[in-house]
Amino acid sequence: MAHPTVRFLGGVREIGGNKVVVEDGPDRILIDFGPSFSPVWEQYWGQYLQPRSASPVKDYLEFGLLPRVEGLYSEDALAGSDLRPTEPEFQGVFVSHAHLDHAGHLKLVDPRIPVYLSEGTGSLLDAIEESTFTKYGEHPWHRMPYGTPVQIGHLEVVPLPVDHSIPGASGFLIRTREGTIVYTGDYRQHGPRADETHRFFEAAAAERPVALITEGTRAGPDTRKQFTEEGVRAGVDHLLAKSNQLALVTSYPRDLDRFSTLYQAARAAGRSLVVSLRTAYLLQAAHRSFPTIPMPVPGESEGVHVYRRPKSRYFPWERPFLDDAVDAPWVKQHGAELLLSLEMSHFAELIDLRPDPGSPYIHSMSEPFSEDDVDDQVLHHWLDHFGLSFHQYHASGHASGPELESIVKSVRPATVYPVHTEHPEAFQGWAARTVSPELGTRYPIGH
Ligand SMILES: [Zn+2]
Repeated sequence: MAHPTVRFLGGVREIGGNKVVVEDGPDRILIDFGPSFSPVWEQYWGQYLQPRSASPVKDYLEFGLLPRVEGLYSEDALAGSDLRPTEPEFQGVFVSHAHLDHAGHLKLVDPRIPVYLSEGTGSLLDAIEESTFTKYGEHPWHRMPYGTPVQIGHLEVVPLPVDHSIPGASGFLIRTREGTIVYTGDYRQHGPRADETHRFFEAAAAERPVALITEGTRAGPDTRKQFTEEGVRAGVDHLLAKSNQLALVTSYPRDLDRFSTLYQAARAAGRSLVVSLRTAYLLQAAHRSFPTIPMPVPGESEGVHVYRRPKSRYFPWERPFLDDAVDAPWVKQHGAELLLSLEMSHFAELIDLRPDPGSPYIHSMSEPFSEDDVDDQVLHHWLDHFGLSFHQYHASGHASGPELESIVKSVRPATVYPVHTEHPEAFQGWAARTVSPELGTRYPIGH
């Protein structure tokens, strides 16, 4: 009998873009399918220059930014390309969490191929589709209860929760006829659900896995300042306690734990949290899927306001919030009682808000990777223009290098395959065998 194999079609020496194929005999699944933001992407494409919607696969393939595989893409997505539409050759795509770099290419997948995800990830993808231009395509969607195995021929996939900077994140135990492959997705153990991550790796170790496919975002050199989620809370508490001006914050729009942290901090300081229309929609649409996260829910929670930017036309999903929404003059008047969440793409609102010089601005996102980061320069130009004081408080969605090492050692896989990292070499010596995967190579699994 041929051994089961794993094959890496993305996420190799890059952070994000995981595309992992697991095969056992006639059975084949894909795990995660998001776009690559590798240097190659940045060489040819950008915000202003995107692959054409009429021929997406053709345009990505031109620069090797999608795998050349048959039986995966939809007929529409293949238009114009030299890959021919065929019958599906994958029995399912398993999505670990709702971040773009793991789910963003689902719309290119053949609509006959089912997509498997957690309840929480499903509700987030629904809310994102409704409130943005991101689409995931038509598929049979299967929302998997945690801990219940899904049988795909000879493969058995057990989804378990892990903590990441978006709720609903999963890791998978993939049982093959030659042993278990552990796929971590993205994870951390310093967030509000650290216990889920610990339990996942306990379950992983108990399988005596033949392979561990782990993310390694923070492996290798990492000098950026990092807090735990509790540390973010303490920092924001401290800042709000000593300020009597409007406080502003920018965080990742889908980091619902962070909105929870910011909301608790605002309330503790006697302030209200003001969120954008899009955040309001996401919180309202998704909060029922995450009953254990104390999220601010517009219309339900005390001390939450929705900020209405002036626009010529509002989307249907925005309209239910408009009547009770607040505007720039109101925020200006009540500044000292508010913590205003403002995405960088909405910074032009500062022209109307005109915070007093010295007002605190909290950057609750990753620090830039490089000093010549253009967005970072623009951000600081705006802060300088209005005389705002900059404060960095962020907890990463990813485990640190030392945490990765102790996790790999505790799971004791026969082989570790680092993905979602620029430094796979940092994993050397942590497991019996370390393989820095090569794009497209099939690695046999088992003894
Ligand atoms: Zn990721």
